Amino acid sequence: DTSHGTILYLENISVSFDGFKALNDLNLVIDAGELRCVIGPNGAGKTTMMDVISGKTRPDKGKAFFGQTIDLTRLTEPEIAQIGIGRKFQKPTVFEQHTVFENLELAIKTDKGVFASLFAELDDAQRDRIAETLRLVQLADQADRPAGLLSHGQKQWLEIGMLLMQEPKLLLLDEPVAGMTDEETERTAELFISLAGRHSLIVVEHDMKFVSRIARKVTVLHEGSVLAEGSMEAVQNDPRVIEVYLGR
Ligand code: ADP
Repeated sequence: DTSHGTILYLENISVSFDGFKALNDLNLVIDAGELRCVIGPNGAGKTTMMDVISGKTRPDKGKAFFGQTIDLTRLTEPEIAQIGIGRKFQKPTVFEQHTVFENLELAIKTDKGVFASLFAELDDAQRDRIAETLRLVQLADQADRPAGLLSHGQKQWLEIGMLLMQEPKLLLLDEPVAGMTDEETERTAELFISLAGRHSLIVVEHDMKFVSRIARKVTVLHEGSVLAEGSMEAVQNDPRVIEVYLGR
């Protein structure tokens, strides 16, 4: 259960590429169960921040803790996935030849990397979890269809469902509604709101309408550090944020 406390703590994280500071003393604290949106202009460091949290990029300096005690800077990318940080990239990557149900089945069986269990039958608890997830991601009526036949939005929800099979505490979502229709975007908003509480979410997104729909708290990155943080209304009216988005 993740109903209280800090789930993620970043302090003075810096990352340089050939002397260019992609992250420059970045500080970020995410509460357990929080739904945080991260915005900022291109090149602000959003992807690099996600790369640091997921272990793809090691910071040059700074602290990165998951919960109170787990030092993320000492773990590899697969280890970070195993301790409960799930990442979804922008493009959906589902097994197109397999049905929706089979995609979730594969995801639940490869949980914790136990490939041997691929040949085992699902137990009742696993079947229940798949059924519950199918309802949550609104694909219950698509369970027996090949994933390749789903719409773009449905593929994105399926991949989120696959991530949920690993029971992540923290979900990292990179531009989840890019390319979605308005209706799919609204359904995704409802999904994320229902995931918050049980999971913590960090959502990097350019769609401001979506961000204002879902986020209680928004972090604005600029030049590798936090420019502003607060409610959508507060950051939208912050002169520094307006300057960065419009003043050039
Ligand atoms: P955002 O996701 O906010 O657009 P990024 O984190 O992708 O920003 O990039 C921040 C800056 O770091 C950009 O100027 C980008 O060109 C640079 N950068 C990111 N990754 C690399 C890399 N692997 N090598 C060199 N420069 C990089």
